[in-house]
Amino acid sequence: RAKTEGGNTHRVFEPTMDEAEAARRDLERDLRHAIEGDELILHYQPQVSTGTGRLLGFEALVRWEHPTRGLVPPNAFIPLAEESGLILPLGEWVLRAACREAARWAQPLKVAVNLSPRQFQQADLPERVLAILTETGLAPTRLELEITETLIINDMARALGILRRLKAFGVSIAMDDFGTGYSSLATLQAFPFDKIKIDRSFVGHVEVSSQAAVIVRAVLGLGRSLGMSVVAEGVETDAQMRFLAAEACDEAQGYLISKPQPIERFARQIGAPEGFVAPGRPDTAVA
Ligand code: C2E
Ligand code: MG
Ligand code: MG
Ligand code: MG
Repeated sequence: RAKTEGGNTHRVFEPTMDEAEAARRDLERDLRHAIEGDELILHYQPQVSTGTGRLLGFEALVRWEHPTRGLVPPNAFIPLAEESGLILPLGEWVLRAACREAARWAQPLKVAVNLSPRQFQQADLPERVLAILTETGLAPTRLELEITETLIINDMARALGILRRLKAFGVSIAMDDFGTGYSSLATLQAFPFDKIKIDRSFVGHVEVSSQAAVIVRAVLGLGRSLGMSVVAEGVETDAQMRFLAAEACDEAQGYLISKPQPIERFARQIGAPEGFVAPGRPDTAVA
């Protein structure tokens, strides 16, 4: 990169392993700096009731406002954060920022936060979550933690213990990206999830693929029989929304409703006063 190589270095060959490693180390150093500094931000994506369209809450999704690369999506840095262990301070930053923000909303909407497998391996995760809830003043019932299946298969007994302790505080738990991992029905039944989020790879094909429609119906049936509510992720069209409403899917999230956006864009929905500016973002006015 220009920053480390000088502005006029032209490379005509493919990066070697050493160069790839150096680039990775640069990114890791920048990410460490981003977590300590002020470069991470949260965007929020609404979750609505499929039947009534009522707003129920938001999923908080992290972005990196890189000084030279611009807004970096999570898929470009979460894997590195996981490998390097930076996911622990990053995850804690996200949780604290989301709880602090949600605690200020006039409407008692829910906020959903994604947890990485590494965070879940911390035996004291429930205490860390509780400390952040106490510090920020957010009611535990307003926090939902989203976890993926890989999280559970590593160590089932331990995962179950952690989940139960979190639920005992009143925090709810959603299984994210359902259908893309290795969960068996037995896993689903053994774990006290409140919610199943159907992965958007199925939702996105319900109108065109009878196979996708069959899978979505099956997950809805599972949710019903296990007493878990079901959220469809990645709803992009009216036809998909009509299908979900007809099948009595509880909740929907997707670009049809809104892309993830800075919270200022939802000032009216969260019950913020006119001219609302989110904390820590003094330079951002309401759009
Ligand atoms: P996810 O938790 O499954 O989040 C949903 C992703 O789908 C988001 O991508 C969202 O922007 C995208 N999405 C929502 N609706 C639609 C739609 O209608 N169409 C399409 N094509 N996409 C839609 P995003 O924000 O890029 O996040 C990607 C993934 O990064 C997340 O998937 C989550 O696994 C991870 N992630 C994001 N924030 C965090 C975080 O704070 N901590 C951790 N550990 N992971 C995070
Ligand atoms: Mg998620
Ligand atoms: Mg998902
Ligand atoms: Mg995902």
